[in-house]
Amino acid sequence: MLYSSTRDNSLKIKSAQAIKTGLSKDGGLFVPEMLPKITQGDLESLAPMSYNDRAVFILSKFLTDFDLFEVKECVDLAYSKEKFETAGIAPVYKLNERVYFLELWHGPTCAFKDMALQILPHLLTKSIQKCGSDKECVILVATSGDTGKAALEGFKDVDKTRIFVFYPERGVSEIQKLQMITQEGNNVGVAAVIGNFDDAQTGVKKIFTDEDYNERLALNGFELSSANSINWGRLVPQIVYYFSAYADLIKSDEIKLGDKINFAVPTGNFGNILAGYYAKKMGLPVNKFICASNENNVLTEFINTGVYDKNRKFHTTISPSMDILVSSNLERLLYDMTDGNDEKIREYMGALAEDGKYSVSADVLAKIQESFYAGCCNDEETMQTISSVNEEYSYVMDTHTAVGKYVYDKYAQQTGDTTKTVIASTASPFKFNQSVLIALEGLSSVAGKNEFELLDILAEKSNMRIPKSLSELKSKARLFDMSCEKKQMKQVVSEFLKVE
Ligand SMILES: *Cc1c(COP(=O)(O)O)cnc(C)c1O
Repeated sequence: MLYSSTRDNSLKIKSAQAIKTGLSKDGGLFVPEMLPKITQGDLESLAPMSYNDRAVFILSKFLTDFDLFEVKECVDLAYSKEKFETAGIAPVYKLNERVYFLELWHGPTCAFKDMALQILPHLLTKSIQKCGSDKECVILVATSGDTGKAALEGFKDVDKTRIFVFYPERGVSEIQKLQMITQEGNNVGVAAVIGNFDDAQTGVKKIFTDEDYNERLALNGFELSSANSINWGRLVPQIVYYFSAYADLIKSDEIKLGDKINFAVPTGNFGNILAGYYAKKMGLPVNKFICASNENNVLTEFINTGVYDKNRKFHTTISPSMDILVSSNLERLLYDMTDGNDEKIREYMGALAEDGKYSVSADVLAKIQESFYAGCCNDEETMQTISSVNEEYSYVMDTHTAVGKYVYDKYAQQTGDTTKTVIASTASPFKFNQSVLIALEGLSSVAGKNEFELLDILAEKSNMRIPKSLSELKSKARLFDMSCEKKQMKQVVSEFLKVE
């Protein structure tokens, strides 16, 4: 199978090249030329399989320049007993006869980014070898929270790789900061940047595009690479769990082979939900995708009107991993919905860069609405949803998942659709303990409490075990206390790599 760019469909490269390169030179994203087909017989055969076998089955259809053994090696390194707290890896929890949660947060950092970032490092190192490079791969990340830690955990101690993460001194939660500055591993580095996320991001981009500097790194045997969410190697592992959820529902007799289900997905960069859409196009029986946004509802507006307009107020919400105004993976959906019209995509993205805005034609919009419903949810509604679901079912959701549940409820009410629905649960409630506790118990329950006291209170209240990786933070050594100015970031990277 070959891959093209969303902005140049004459380009044809292998998956290893797509994963190694990340972003196409023309600014486009890599997409498979066509999607492999999964038959009903295949779906049936997935049901008795373990998560890892399901993953090998799906991934090998996309990574045709990897042999089966290589795919299996990557999968087994990523989704192991040591890394995930449950043997099911991504288990389905039944809330009631209609609603299920696909829990994607049992990995080492307690959020769904582990599903992709645990396997990406292995796919990447194999891809680099296949492309004939002998350089050591240096991953640079600017993070607003979840991605940095997930990337550190994924890349730690992976051969022929180094990773350095910059986080904004202001703008990550206490737990997120602790998770990063206590990171272990012989190839990792972390620093705070004095400023906000934008400052950190701009600084990293500058390093990537500094040709002289990249040459100097090459002379020292290093090559920069990125682990951000537009890399095909991050998207493709996410297709697996949509099939896995369906297979689990078959196995537990909740649905019959061929029955259609809905998926509701709390969305930011549009990566997670897009993977689901690809699964549908491959043959997974899906009725609707419910795209759920927080107050940063640029996608809600786009899917309802066909106008994408990022010129709006940025809201800082209690579901911060979805605080996004430019959903980069949407470009892949547009490419698909225009039947691979690269000229149209260049037009849309040109307008987005220039005016912060583009609109699609009525027929493209109608096609999008065939598969997607969209809605949004503010912080107060998020809180109420956490509280009411806990009251009725004794099930505690995190803030992102609650956005998904709220928008699903709205969808069901508006449409009367009774199709069984799987809601993507994207983070452990312990990771966003403060907001979750305020939702359950009110402000006074958190006043004056430190992070570890909050974890204990939430454990008691929810009857859930605190994830080991979070409770351990208390006793871990603070290894990285460095902070730097934006203009010092390059120098910090040089010192990390011991490059003159
Ligand atoms: C990143 C993230 C999301 C958004 O996923 P996208 O693929 O960017 O749409 C939702 N919830 C959590 C907890 C996340 O970390």
